[in-house]
Amino acid sequence: MRRRELLKYLSMLPAGGFITPYVDGNRLLWLDKERRGRELFKELGVRTFINAAGTYTAMTGSLMRPEVLEAINYSATDFCMLDELQDKVGEKIASLVHAESAVVTAGCFSAMTLGLAGILTGLDEEKAIQLPHLMGTDMKSEVICQKGHEIVYTHALKNTGCKIVMVETREELEQTINERTALMFFLNVQADKGSIMHEEWVSIAKKHGVPTMIDIAADVPPVSNLWKFHEMGFDLVCVSGGKAIRGPQSAGLLMGKKNFIQAARLHMPPRGFNIGRGMKVNKEEILGMYVALEKFINLDHQQEWNLQQAQIDLIATAAQAVEGVTTEVKVPPLGNVTPTLYIHWNAEKVKISGKELQQRLRNGTPSIEVGGAEDTSLILTAWMLKPGQEKVVAKRLREELSTAV
Ligand SMILES: *Cc1c(COP(=O)(O)O)cnc(C)c1O
Repeated sequence: MRRRELLKYLSMLPAGGFITPYVDGNRLLWLDKERRGRELFKELGVRTFINAAGTYTAMTGSLMRPEVLEAINYSATDFCMLDELQDKVGEKIASLVHAESAVVTAGCFSAMTLGLAGILTGLDEEKAIQLPHLMGTDMKSEVICQKGHEIVYTHALKNTGCKIVMVETREELEQTINERTALMFFLNVQADKGSIMHEEWVSIAKKHGVPTMIDIAADVPPVSNLWKFHEMGFDLVCVSGGKAIRGPQSAGLLMGKKNFIQAARLHMPPRGFNIGRGMKVNKEEILGMYVALEKFINLDHQQEWNLQQAQIDLIATAAQAVEGVTTEVKVPPLGNVTPTLYIHWNAEKVKISGKELQQRLRNGTPSIEVGGAEDTSLILTAWMLKPGQEKVVAKRLREELSTAV
């Protein structure tokens, strides 16, 4: 956190209040005095680390910004009606992302399940009660997806009871659409692995009157992806809250057409006759998500990019200083769009495997996680680094690479 921002926070504190800010790296937490300093990770013996990998669920995603933690702590001290909060926050979020409507879900995966559940049932409670058992009902039961778009997360769609039907070509798609087709699903991050691109997918769906959904879970930045797909005509757009947006890791957004979002709400808590009762988001997460989104949209994205680029350059320069090491920066075009550093080395000169180097960085002090390792290469990103941690990563990498020469 910048000093200027910190001062702003300090000035907002009630004089002599119980709450004091606790600054740790770029985290700022509001905690009472007695609790401040309780180091739970240490108490439990849980390893923490510098994240030079990215927004991985296994690594707990991303770190929430101070404003988000503030919203969470603020909302923890009062009750409100869950539906009223979702209504009001949903309206604000919808206007931020240029959608008709929006709702905070328990992640992108749950947004996919709930969005499809709403499409299947509309506002019919009797139908909602029947899910995921579609057989013998008059509900639709098939989702069409391009073969190149199938990843583990399509399970979110199967949770409704639907089956996924794969297609490869436009002809196949048009033959596959039938009266059981509930949805045409598109996975943005693998758009280039299918033969039908976004606009064509939407136009075929519209021609046949089939709803469309796009998964853009990890595909911001660019920030414009938050509105681009509504404008393109997708009925529902699903995104993760706890990746680059840095909201709660257990939150996400379902955005799009009002009738579908309303229907999706039928499957969400506080209602409990549905498949979504376990996908609860509480008031803290809802408000945390809202504030994270607002903050993310208003960021100076060019400045964020330049910062990541500079951090990556510093790490690359340190690694390259070791003889036999070369580096390359690539930017994935569709998702996880951040400067991504590939460090390669000549196995004759630098005698260490990628996996071993990864392990040494993990076991070192401080512990560092990288994004991947091959025989003679390592992948890392800077977007989850706190300012200054790039220096530590650069130093540790150079040490380990030089030791292996
Ligand atoms: C991360 C991810 C998901 C799941 O998102 P959560 O917010 O963790 O539920 C779904 N689809 C894709 C492509 C993802 O990368």
